[in-house]
Amino acid sequence: MPPLIPVADARRMIVDGLGLLDIEHVPLSKALHRVLAADAVAAVSHPPADVSAMDGYAIRFEDVPTVPLTLEVVGESGAGHPWSGTLGIGQALRIFTGAHVPAGANTIVMQENTKAHGTNGNQVVIVEMPQPARHIRRMGQDFRKGDVGLQAPRRLTARDIGLLAAMNIARVPVARRPRIGVLSTGDEIVMPGESVGHGQIVSANGPGLSAFIEQQGGEAIHLGVARDELEALRAAIARAEPLDMLVTSGGVSVGEHDLMRKALQSDDFRLAFHKIAMRPGKPLLFGRVGKNQKLPVMGLPGNPASAMVCAVLFLGPALARMQGLTGDAPRTIPARLGADLKENDSREDYLRAALSADFVATPFSKQDSGMISSFARADCLIVRPPNAPAILAGASVPVILLQ
Ligand code: AMP
Ligand code: MG
Repeated sequence: MPPLIPVADARRMIVDGLGLLDIEHVPLSKALHRVLAADAVAAVSHPPADVSAMDGYAIRFEDVPTVPLTLEVVGESGAGHPWSGTLGIGQALRIFTGAHVPAGANTIVMQENTKAHGTNGNQVVIVEMPQPARHIRRMGQDFRKGDVGLQAPRRLTARDIGLLAAMNIARVPVARRPRIGVLSTGDEIVMPGESVGHGQIVSANGPGLSAFIEQQGGEAIHLGVARDELEALRAAIARAEPLDMLVTSGGVSVGEHDLMRKALQSDDFRLAFHKIAMRPGKPLLFGRVGKNQKLPVMGLPGNPASAMVCAVLFLGPALARMQGLTGDAPRTIPARLGADLKENDSREDYLRAALSADFVATPFSKQDSGMISSFARADCLIVRPPNAPAILAGASVPVILLQ
């Protein structure tokens, strides 16, 4: 019997053999959730000049030793409409948020501290003592042309997209999306929308894993459902050869109909491991197949909660690695346990749990790996290390947040 290997070892064996695929350039509108492949350098400065942070008046601070005091309004600077003159003694310029501060001015008085005066607002009364150098956003105080705004590698968020846009970067170098074949296996499996005959169930894993892959920046290639027959499995494996990875579900347990490993077996197959000391998800097969053992194959268990927990723990890091990221374990954060837990055996447990707004993680009472609904409803997975002692509600436990 091959040994059960620890979760961390399994992940290392998977990601160590993977690396960044290729780089491509995509328009900013397609860059969300992609991984930035080169440092992003600002093509412009922001703000491009000293600009006002308020609606009000640009003045010379030294012109207003006492208040109230009247200044002559000599013009207007609006956002997108700079005023090109120089402010002289006793003069003020009407100014709006985002507008260039004119030469000669050194502070802004906000509108609320003034009173318009004279005909056509050609005079303004300053009613509060101004402060020096107020309400001015300095040229380049946000970033300067040539600054590295974002460091690669980095999975781009909506906030990052905003920054890239402001840096005047219209096309972004990103890692190519890994192309992952998704194959469901089992005589009982039909795809959603098909008619469900006697003894059949609808595939949760195919669509669920495909969505997970897309969410992690990959491209899921649907390889359909293969029957529990060596020929059908081998044909599907062959179709995956040009891809970056093959992910299968089902057929990796010890039953007579669990044929995945047998179907892979050939001179071109190298098995890395087949069993992991974890729950759910003990049977998980990883290896390489095809010409030069080029195609990584991840054989996930058929039970949906097992398949999806394994996707979070192993497929996510694998996809990250293929996009140039580290492929580290999913991040855990501490939460307070919402119910007592018994001591753990030698397998690492991942308990589906609800997480309250004040970070109390309450494990669901049923942890059956066949339950799809509880996995969908879970907010997090509570991590229980091998041989962890019994703990009481209120203890701190590490949890992995589920998206
Ligand atoms: P297996 O690993 O093939 O022995 O399957 C274990 C359990 O998972 C069985 O109850 C299967 O019916 C179920 N199963 C296998 N594949 C899927 C799938 N794609 N979607 C939902 N359940 C599945
Ligand atoms: Mg099966």
